[in-house]
Amino acid sequence: MDILQNLNQIRNSIPDHITLVAVSKTKPASMIKDLHIAGHRDFGENKVQDLAAKAEELPATIRWHFIGHLQTNKVKYIAPFVHLVHGVDSLKLLRVIQKEAAKNNRMISCLLQVHIAQEESKFGLSKEEVIELLGSGELASMQNIKLAGLMGMATYTDDLEQVRLEFQFLKRIFEDVKNKFFSDQTSFCELSMGMSADYKVAVDEGSTMIRIGSLIFGPRNYH
Ligand SMILES: *Cc1c(COP(=O)(O)O)cnc(C)c1O
Repeated sequence: MDILQNLNQIRNSIPDHITLVAVSKTKPASMIKDLHIAGHRDFGENKVQDLAAKAEELPATIRWHFIGHLQTNKVKYIAPFVHLVHGVDSLKLLRVIQKEAAKNNRMISCLLQVHIAQEESKFGLSKEEVIELLGSGELASMQNIKLAGLMGMATYTDDLEQVRLEFQFLKRIFEDVKNKFFSDQTSFCELSMGMSADYKVAVDEGSTMIRIGSLIFGPRNYH
């Protein structure tokens, strides 16, 4: 399988302004290296330990996206280098990211994860919870956090019309929140939605960042 060809095929099928995050979870560093040599820079991992190990081994020019559920006690392992944390879903987690970012004397960009799927199991905030979090005022005091937008995962289903409705719902929340809380800032600009099975729908519906794993690297082997 030619992973570079897979990546280029997706890259060429989406507008230039959309960030393509290559989700390399469970895949060896050598595969990441191959894409990095070809010029790709954005990679996503969902386990802190794997991310930290790969970051240590691979070039510092890689922009690492954390796309999993981040536990507060593990923030410190990725705070020195992480480029964007996609799945933030509590003020408690933001406080810890702020603390660790300050220790490392850097800004950490974060996306709030919104629950848009029908499944109970997916993480994320409701629209009301997003508004409550942003309205709390505490965020404004977090000097080392840059809130860059929202992230969501649609229901895992073949019904792409349902998926489309969920992405439309997320896009609406994104626009509402942007107008309400970030109208004077350009920094709240990312909408991370779309995976291998549904990225075309996501791009249609206004995604700025897609997270693609299996379509680039092939199926994952969990063990
Ligand atoms: C694994 C994962 C992806 C990529 O999934 P594919 O279906 O393999 O493209 C995207 N986003 C998140 C949050 C993931 O955990």
